Amino acid sequence: TYQISPKSIVSDACASYSTLEKLNRKVKPSVDELTKETDFFSHYRLNLFNKRCPFWNDENGMCGNIACAVNTIDNEEDIPKIWRASELGKLEGPSAKHPGKKIQRERPLRPLQGLLGENVGESCVVEYDDECDERDYCVPEDESAGAKGDYVSLVHNPERFTGFAGEGSKMVWDAIYRENCFQKSSFPSSASLGETSPVQGSAAQDFRNVLQHAERQQLQQQHLQNPNTNFVQTGLEVAEECLEKRVFYRVVSGMHASISTHLCWDFLNQTTGQWHPNLKCYTERLHKHPERISNLYFNYALLTRAIAKIGPHLQDYTFCTGDPDQDAATKAKVLAVTEGAASVPQIFDESLMFKNGEGPSLKEDFRNRFRNVSRIMDCVGCDKCRLWGKVQTAGYGAALKVLFEFDNESPDVPELKRTELVALFNTYARLSSSMEAVRKFRGMVEAEEAPE
Ligand code: FAD
Repeated sequence: TYQISPKSIVSDACASYSTLEKLNRKVKPSVDELTKETDFFSHYRLNLFNKRCPFWNDENGMCGNIACAVNTIDNEEDIPKIWRASELGKLEGPSAKHPGKKIQRERPLRPLQGLLGENVGESCVVEYDDECDERDYCVPEDESAGAKGDYVSLVHNPERFTGFAGEGSKMVWDAIYRENCFQKSSFPSSASLGETSPVQGSAAQDFRNVLQHAERQQLQQQHLQNPNTNFVQTGLEVAEECLEKRVFYRVVSGMHASISTHLCWDFLNQTTGQWHPNLKCYTERLHKHPERISNLYFNYALLTRAIAKIGPHLQDYTFCTGDPDQDAATKAKVLAVTEGAASVPQIFDESLMFKNGEGPSLKEDFRNRFRNVSRIMDCVGCDKCRLWGKVQTAGYGAALKVLFEFDNESPDVPELKRTELVALFNTYARLSSSMEAVRKFRGMVEAEEAPE
């Protein structure tokens, strides 16, 4: 049964379910407009096919369903101007240069204007995806391939049911939840592996992969024999964890819940070929697990706070499309979202994180583990799922960076890359539509349960 009442508080966030739902009703139209109707925020560039799974051989887990396929944009002229490689160079004139790290170091920037370029009033959001910042919570997409990557329309490739399931998807979710085990293990953790080893296949890497696999199998075995081992999957075991570990788990579980919600809401009946909401799918995966729904709401609160926090910085961005009217319209839409997100009192207090007890020592571990979650996305054997998995891990990564690495009091404000910004707002849009779908599903359950 559904145990969440509108008045109950989403733990670790300072908001009730009804506050978050009310906020979502208010902000969702602006979020949808931004992500569906602007060239800048409706497209994404990523390395969808060129990166190998760094943790195991994924060749057998590939999804061959048509619903798993992604339509990439292969002709330069079909890519919106703002995203074309040939246009990018033009954005990097002296008056439109984004403040690189060097400039930031040399010229301390004023708080709230940290993203301003040199002496100009505005800076274009250009690509610096190949630059890695030690404060990133995600692996930059260009890390290994060097290629420009694939362009996709996020509107034309909606996140929905694909049929990707079984051992292939299980391996990935298991590996993701394994990153939650912060405690030391006698095996090398994948966090340390990911950070210290090249992703592409050396013999040493193969050896580590074998170790990884053995470790995973052993943990799975332990878990089967004794469900109380530290193989965290249910959320119950983390109840006594410190705030930082709990937040890590909730982010991952909330992302999982959001993916499940979308695939249940936009479900393909393989017999009739019709797409429709699948109530049974929702009941089994979400309704019977209120803590998963709670984690979804928690993520909404977390991203709302990140977007409210980044809002003042985005005042200074211009989304250079080459057309001043379009630039202004894009910016107005972004600000409508950030102002909406800022219209409620602060609903997540990031200043409590990494402060007390073992907190300070956990920050690097937390960041490395989240980076690993983003690396694991290259092991997802379904193109569409990998696309949205990458967009969402990049979005949460950007949110975590804004929350934990942006200090408004400090002159050294990290940059947000174009892909981070697009991922952040699209992840917010995903959560927003999941919340709406959960609300409608809940209504359907209530209607079914109501006496005739
Ligand atoms: P799964 O969802 O695979 O869950 C595995 C186990 O994790 C469950 O048995 C449960 O113990 C635990 N669990 C489930 N949900 C949660 C939660 N919220 N919090 C904590 N623990 C939980 N399929 C699509 O149709 N469309 C997609 O777009 C899509 N995207 C995906 C993206 C990624 C990154 C991955 C890894 C998979 C994706 N899939 C997608 C597959 C989908 O998520 C499921 O894995 C698949 O539908 C099989 O579901 P299942 O019932 O076996 O449980």
